Amino acid sequence: MPIPLVDLKAQYRSIKQDIDAAVARVLENASYILGKEVETFEQAFAAYCGTTYAVGVSSGTDALHLALLACGVGPGDEVITTPFTFIATAAAISHVGATPVFVDIDERSYNMDPARIEAAITPRTKAILPVDLYGQPADMDPIMEIARRYDLRVIEDACQAVGARYRGRRAGSLGDAGCFSFYPAKNLGAAGDGGMLTTNNAEIAERVRNLRDHGRISKYSHGAIGYTYRLDGLQAAILGAKLGHLDGWNDARRAHAQTYNELLEGTGVILPQEAEGCRAIYHVYALRVPRRDELLEYLRAKEIGASIHYPLPVHLQPAYAALGIPKGSFPIAEACADSELSLPLYPEMTREQIEEVAAAVKEFLG
Ligand SMILES: *Cc1c(COP(=O)(O)O)cnc(C)c1O
Repeated sequence: MPIPLVDLKAQYRSIKQDIDAAVARVLENASYILGKEVETFEQAFAAYCGTTYAVGVSSGTDALHLALLACGVGPGDEVITTPFTFIATAAAISHVGATPVFVDIDERSYNMDPARIEAAITPRTKAILPVDLYGQPADMDPIMEIARRYDLRVIEDACQAVGARYRGRRAGSLGDAGCFSFYPAKNLGAAGDGGMLTTNNAEIAERVRNLRDHGRISKYSHGAIGYTYRLDGLQAAILGAKLGHLDGWNDARRAHAQTYNELLEGTGVILPQEAEGCRAIYHVYALRVPRRDELLEYLRAKEIGASIHYPLPVHLQPAYAALGIPKGSFPIAEACADSELSLPLYPEMTREQIEEVAAAVKEFLG
């Protein structure tokens, strides 16, 4: 039997009645855009993350875009971020007219290395945008300390880390704003696009609420030039039905990662490491392996849905050629991009499936 990278159908089957009931409720009430379903889910999500506010938006990218706008980041500003992420992190910075300034990562966590941030700060720096890559929170304490000293805003890209913890606190609750994606394959996935912004700052929450819905003050009065960045009722209802299962799913992800670690120990691959004080949720189970591209082909030939996150760091993407950042500028991110391999991981996986994947990796490595 093929083993996919993620299995969204297995999750649906496990909670079909709840999802179907949530969908039927929205259709019967015809509450499609914002409305009560969205408000209910926003409150549940804020409580889950331990933040005062949560504002539902149309995607993780849009959450990042609005977070930057609400933090006052604009043309001419610089935002310090990681080159080893999905391109949306940097794209959001570009959307507000600011420039992404990259710093290299820590090769143990794959996250932004806080020790490199200060050297990248200039008079134009306005914010720091760390990413909780693969579901492991960035090292937020030193990042927040630098931000306080230089009076910078911190926007946490927690799109891969719903429910992860850093020193006991939830990912996305640690900076000025946290941004989440409910893209279907994320660890809390909608049946389409969706996102959320969390914050403890009333002004940021208010600004984002306004901007996500055409800058509305009332139905046809607009205080700002806004966007169509709203979360819809169907997605909110589905996500609300899933939220109660999330801790269990995240625990299963952690257990599966542990099983992989035990099976692959001593084979010469670099296993994922949980940073001190972090409780990662393994959105991605990332290895670094020799002869990565050959191994990927080998696994795919066996119908094992391995993948790469991400084969090209952001500074080397054609979309960012205009920044003129040459290859070799961020050697750790580049080395990780050349050697990272993601193995199938989802809560409903069985021990037998994990063993089969691990056996195939070992077979290849001889
Ligand atoms: C998925 C993701 C995004 C974008 O989220 P969308 O909902 O697809 O817009 C941004 N940053 C990271 C790190 C992501 O993984």
